[in-house]
Amino acid sequence: MNRLSFLKLCTLSLCAAGASALYAQPYPTKPVRLVVPFSPGGTTDIVARVISAPLSKELGQSVVVENKAGAGGVLGAAEIARANPDGYALGVATVSTTATNPAINPKIPYDPLKDFTPIVNIAATPNVLAVHPSFPAKNYQAFIAELKKNPTRYSYGTAGTGSIGHLQMELFKSLAHLSIMHVPYKGSGPALNDAVAGQVGVVFDNLPSALPFIKDGRLIPIVVSAPERVAQLPNVPTFKEVGLEPANRMAFYGVYGPKGLPQAVVERINLAVRKSLQDPGVRSRIEATGSMVVANTPEQFRQQIVQEYDIYKRTVAVQKLTLD
Ligand code: GLU
Repeated sequence: MNRLSFLKLCTLSLCAAGASALYAQPYPTKPVRLVVPFSPGGTTDIVARVISAPLSKELGQSVVVENKAGAGGVLGAAEIARANPDGYALGVATVSTTATNPAINPKIPYDPLKDFTPIVNIAATPNVLAVHPSFPAKNYQAFIAELKKNPTRYSYGTAGTGSIGHLQMELFKSLAHLSIMHVPYKGSGPALNDAVAGQVGVVFDNLPSALPFIKDGRLIPIVVSAPERVAQLPNVPTFKEVGLEPANRMAFYGVYGPKGLPQAVVERINLAVRKSLQDPGVRSRIEATGSMVVANTPEQFRQQIVQEYDIYKRTVAVQKLTLD
């Protein structure tokens, strides 16, 4: 080999070494955004804030929670769908943004199955229908009787149009032949504030955000959607028990990114979240709110989203549910 080709070879291999060193830079090298598509005070926000600190520790970079509320979670979810697939823009994947809203709302600006990369499901969460203490019914039978007697008197608050609370309540109305008007908020936080203040008599929410108000008597639980009675609310029946099994589905809170996220990044985040959830302190903070830790693989989470979306599409079609 002559001197010139030797030098060329060295330069090439140095370049290659340099490029691969650059390429192999460990993710993440800067703070990661975690978009919460609802207001502070709701379950999405609660779960994001529980996981962000241990996740920051696992990843060695800050995980910064950002609330982008509006349109039943669609605004924040659309922002993640449009983000660069580099692992620095992640979102909390909820049943509302991936399944119920896409199932009932024909104007969703993303495809829940094609525009995201599912990473991990953090927790499954019961839902609860609750009333203000001044509401003239304190249990399920009395609630049904009151709504039948006064079909135009009441309204119910939810985390937004097309959210799981909205869809489940419309399903409940359809199955139980009830009438009650919907009032959408930008998340459970503001919906709960108005329910506790008595501005709206009924609220349909996820358990973690509603539970503190139920515990101190500012809201009265009527019925829950959960596989079994919730340990914290032993006297409250499930929708299944009252004969309305289709309304008995739970919510979920996971992490996803835009489509095309590199596999190495997906695995890094999945592992970091699962390790965070092994910490007994983190686990118990999630479980104390009535949630169940899931911590599954990206593929299991993807399948779950496909399944939930399909179930809600069928529910919307069978019950002929619409947004208005
Ligand atoms: N109900 C919403 C959901 O399941 C969450 C509402 C909120 O976090 O404010 O996705």
